[in-house]
Amino acid sequence: MNKIMLKLGGTIMTLFLMVLLPLGYAANQIFTNFYYSQVQEEIGELSQKYARTISSLEDETVINMFRNLADLTNKEMYITEANGKVVADSDVQLANLTNEDIKQLSAGKPIRKEFKDSLTDSNYLGAGYPIIQSNTFEGAFFVLAPINDVQEPVQKIRYLLILSAVGALFLALGFTFLFSKKMSDPLIEMEQASRQIAKGNLDVRVNIPSNDEVGSLGKAINDLALETNRYRSNRREFFATISHELRTPVSYLKGYAQVLKQDLYQTEEERLQYLNIIENETDRLVRLINDLFDLSKMEEGKMDLQMSTIDLTEVLESALFKVKMESEKKGLTLKTKIDEAVPFIEADGTRLEQIFTNLLGNAVRYTEKGFVSVKVWNANNNVHVIIEDTGVGIPEKDLSLVFERFHRVEKSRSRELGGTGLGLAIVKNLVELQSGSISVSSQLGKGTRFQLSFPTAE
Ligand code: ADP
Repeated sequence: MNKIMLKLGGTIMTLFLMVLLPLGYAANQIFTNFYYSQVQEEIGELSQKYARTISSLEDETVINMFRNLADLTNKEMYITEANGKVVADSDVQLANLTNEDIKQLSAGKPIRKEFKDSLTDSNYLGAGYPIIQSNTFEGAFFVLAPINDVQEPVQKIRYLLILSAVGALFLALGFTFLFSKKMSDPLIEMEQASRQIAKGNLDVRVNIPSNDEVGSLGKAINDLALETNRYRSNRREFFATISHELRTPVSYLKGYAQVLKQDLYQTEEERLQYLNIIENETDRLVRLINDLFDLSKMEEGKMDLQMSTIDLTEVLESALFKVKMESEKKGLTLKTKIDEAVPFIEADGTRLEQIFTNLLGNAVRYTEKGFVSVKVWNANNNVHVIIEDTGVGIPEKDLSLVFERFHRVEKSRSRELGGTGLGLAIVKNLVELQSGSISVSSQLGKGTRFQLSFPTAE
């Protein structure tokens, strides 16, 4: 017996009693009254009929006929003279026939009351009717019905009522048992599943029993397990990638440091080359660590942004300046088309510059010839930026994945070019943290275009 069963059972029992008890009482009352008044009616009519039929109180045959009639109809009769003296009876003696009763009858009015038989002490429902002959009150005719006879059918009905109430109660209890079992079984299953999930057993699923709230709870638990599972494998994969990403530069560092230590080089030029590699790998390691740190802060929602109202174009100019040398070195043209009087936006200047430096850096890094262009304009309460290049492009299948951490289209080339695979993931996070949006489109071998927009400041 579980708690839901107890609670539900208790409630239904209480409700049942609250409804059944008054209902039973009322039904009992109605039936009793009905029977009593029916019997009263009957003996009232009989007494009237008999009183009217009687012609003489002295006629023994008539009196005897009534006695027989009383026997046949299971009623008693009692005939008195005008002064109350008994003329005939069917073995009853009315113990409580009063002068008042006689008085009322002599006034021509019938009486109805409960009489007691002084011989047997049993009670009768009685009706008395005056015998009037040629306008004189001659006596009274009483017809009596034993109260037991009246009570018997009432008692029967009462038993029936109680029986059906008890039946209904058991039915309700059975129903409660089944219903609460149907309700609590899935809940118990969900409890066990949740405990399994808490223990790390993420493959458990609960049956979804119905389309109601219990069903959606089950669905929520299944979703939780699914989501946690996804998170766990994501995390596993993330750590595997990080250790791999960290191990690679470190093994380079160790390898070239050993070469230098053991003088395993031929020329001074070679020595400088090795030192360069060490320096580059160290730089990359620092970048990787910084990127990881940024990303983890963003994913935990702990990135503190110093928001202020700023001029996006100024920030963009500063980022452009940083990539200028590199692009000139590669012989690329840097084209800019920046609208005048672009409205200010609400952003963190340093982080906004990080976004542009990253995108422009990628554009220059993945472009061998042609140009990198930047466009800025204002429309629909948003400042829009397009950073476009004529580089290698991104294959269709990778387009939706480039914003994921560590996703690189061509691992070796990205590495060769000093990439960490975290840049775009950080860019997307930063853009969204500053209420902006970013999208990418590209054609393999032709170029790539990143489009950003930020809401203008109020
Ligand atoms: P990475 O440090 O490797 O550049 P990013 O997160 O910045 O990492 O970019 C993810 C991948 O997207 C890159 O490895 C590269 O393959 C691709 N990519 C990004 N920008 C461009 C671009 N402008 N042109 C072509 N490919 C790009």
